Amino acid sequence: MSQDAVPRTSALTFEKGACCICGREDGEVLVKGKAPTLGSNSPEFAFIRCPECRVLFLDPRPTDESIGLLYPDQYYSRDFQPIRQAVVQKSSRLKQRLQFRILRSYGLIREPDAGEPERGSHWAPPRPPAAVWDLVCKTTVFPLAVRWSPLLQTLVYNRRFLRFRRKPARVLEVGFGNGLLLYALSHLDTELFGTEISPEACKVLAETLGAKTFCGQLWEANYEDNQFDLVIFSHSLEHLADPMRALREAQRIISPQGSVLVSVPNPDSLSARVFREHWTGYDFPRHLFLFGPDALRRMAQEAGLRASVVRFPLESGLYHFTQSINSRLGLRLLPQVLRRTLIAQLLYLPIAMSTAGDVLTASLSAEK
Ligand SMILES: [Zn+2]
Repeated sequence: MSQDAVPRTSALTFEKGACCICGREDGEVLVKGKAPTLGSNSPEFAFIRCPECRVLFLDPRPTDESIGLLYPDQYYSRDFQPIRQAVVQKSSRLKQRLQFRILRSYGLIREPDAGEPERGSHWAPPRPPAAVWDLVCKTTVFPLAVRWSPLLQTLVYNRRFLRFRRKPARVLEVGFGNGLLLYALSHLDTELFGTEISPEACKVLAETLGAKTFCGQLWEANYEDNQFDLVIFSHSLEHLADPMRALREAQRIISPQGSVLVSVPNPDSLSARVFREHWTGYDFPRHLFLFGPDALRRMAQEAGLRASVVRFPLESGLYHFTQSINSRLGLRLLPQVLRRTLIAQLLYLPIAMSTAGDVLTASLSAEK
């Protein structure tokens, strides 16, 4: 997302921060920093770790009334160009076929049922069995194609969480931002729902993807109990004024077999320690809370959810890592090019495979 949007700082108001689980206001100050997006008038912010719950909370934090100023329409990637372009590109048949093959080979979608052959139809040359063909592609062409497409990466790397029992699966993304994840999910057999605080974001997603959008906070949407197969918080939980309330609401609206997928920056990562206030995961003052693996497990438990899978994804982790180099050295383009290279990915791999990755992804299941 664009970091360039500068809100009117004078209109922002702040209040004392507190732990989102237990409400404590004291703790160890882990890092202090200013918000480049607020310009020279930025107050100094701190992230404080609650000694009880291990959650990091921002202090001072923007008040609920003024927080919307931090999300002007430009924040959603310049008038939603990526999502509009992506939907237009859907008409490219070659690309569509490649995407289809990749998703099918990873078991994410099924070939449409061909049905009985028509009587008198022409003879067609025999094709290699799909499984063999998929194996060949998976070891040769697909790794490259997936590596260069953020949409495919999202789907393929999260495939463990994306196999739905119900068809079409009901998927809700809380804080869908520029909508690219919902766009990726539109390739699967899904009925799409989303919440956002930006009316423009809701309008664009409803128009381009036919998603059922709600403008406001998750708990204001009044969804029915057990309505969804998957509720996603992709880099949104840390932006919410009350993440505990959001997780409890997610627990209420997922089906007993459903899951909640959470992706957040990991404040226990190696680069948070190395880059200090330059680590992009802090994003002063939009990130109100940060959760490492322990804090997230604790929050899940409080909400009646269980963290069944916790992972540290390579691609988005490397994105945060290179963005932090960016911020530290004042560079713009170089690290972005770098993160797409195989060598950078190989170097980052051991970090992602340990628990020190920059991004934490957890699948939470309901205990119903
Ligand atoms: Zn606490």
